[in-house]
Amino acid sequence: MFSKDIGIDLGTANILIFIKGQGIVLNEPSVVAIDADSKKVLAVGVEAHQMLGRTPNKVRAIRPLRDGVIADFEITEILLNHLIKKTNVKKMFSKPRIVICCPSNITEVEKNAIKEAAERTGAKKVFLDIEPKVAALGAGMDISKPSANMVIDIGGGTTDIAVLSLGGIVTSLSMKIAGDTFDNDILKYIKNKHKLLIGEKTAEDIKKTIGSVYVDSKKEEKMEVKGRDLTTGLPNMITITSKEIEEALKDSVNKIVGGTKTVLEDTSPELAADIVNKGIILTGGGSLIDGLDRLLEKELKVPIYIAENPLTCVAEGTGILLDNLYLIEGI
Ligand code: ADP
Ligand code: MG
Repeated sequence: MFSKDIGIDLGTANILIFIKGQGIVLNEPSVVAIDADSKKVLAVGVEAHQMLGRTPNKVRAIRPLRDGVIADFEITEILLNHLIKKTNVKKMFSKPRIVICCPSNITEVEKNAIKEAAERTGAKKVFLDIEPKVAALGAGMDISKPSANMVIDIGGGTTDIAVLSLGGIVTSLSMKIAGDTFDNDILKYIKNKHKLLIGEKTAEDIKKTIGSVYVDSKKEEKMEVKGRDLTTGLPNMITITSKEIEEALKDSVNKIVGGTKTVLEDTSPELAADIVNKGIILTGGGSLIDGLDRLLEKELKVPIYIAENPLTCVAEGTGILLDNLYLIEGI
C-alpha cells in the first residue's frame, strides 16, 4: 500500500523527492530557465541546468536557492510545483503530508514562504526541518540518544556544521562556503594564473574530475581545459593539475576547517569526548572532493567518515522523518 507521505530535499544545487514506500523518485538540479522579457518559464531542473552559461541574452537560468537563502520566492515555488507534478504524486494521493528539508540559515519569512508554497501544491500538512539534522539521520546516525553526533554537510551554496544530541542541534554553524565556492575559486585561479576564461560548468567538471584539497603525491592528476584566452580573445586549451586545484581551493577549505574547529570549541567536554570516539560524518555532494576527509583528520585529530551516499542522504533522511514525525522540531 502506498502511504501519502513525501519528503523533499530542497537543496541549493539539487532537489530530491522521496516517496514513502518508493524511495527517491526524483533528483534534479535546482534551476529554472525563464525568458527575461516575458518571464515565461522555459525549462526546469535537468533541462534548465544544461542551459547554465549557454543562454542567449533573453534567457536566464536561475538557481533561486543558490546561497542557502531564497533569492526568489516565485521561482522557488515554480520549481517545487513543477517537480512535485513531475513525480505524479498528486495523481496517486489526494493530499500528501510533506516533509521539506531546507538550508539551516533560512529566515522565518523564508520558512513561511516555503510552507505556503508547498501547501499551495495541495499538501495536507507541511513540516520543515533543517539540513544537518536530516543529513545525520540519512547517514544512519541515531540522534535520539544523549550522545553527540557531529555532521558536516557540504552542499552547493552552504556548509552546515552541527553537533546533535537528544534529537536536536546543540551547536551549529552555517557558512556560505561550499561546492559553488570551490567552482568559483577554480575559475578565478585559472583566469589569474593561465589567463584563460572558463565557465562555471567547466570549473565544476575540473573539480569533480581532478580536484583535490589534499593531494596524495601518488595520485597527482592532469586535465586539459578549454576556454577563452584573455589576451588573444580566442579559444585556447591548457593543462591543469590536481596540485594547482589544491592551491586554488586552499583558502576556502581552510575556512571550512576553521568553522569546524569553532564548533568543536563550543561543544561541551562530554559531547566532545563522544565525537572523538565516534568521529565526524561528512555529507552533501561537496564532501566528495578528493582529500577532504584526510585533511580534516589531520587538522582535527578526529576520525572522519564520508556518508555512504553523500548526495542522497538528506532525501533518505526525510524518509526516516516521515516514519518518525515526533523527531521533527518544526523549525
Ligand atoms: P545542495 O544540498 O546544496 O543541493 P548537494 O549536496 O546536492 O548540494 O551537492 C552539490 C555540490 O556537490 C555541488 O557543488 C557539486 O559540484 C558537488 N559535487 C558533486 N559531486 C562531486 C564530486 N564528485 N566531487 C566534488 N564535488 C562534487
Ligand atoms: Mg543538501
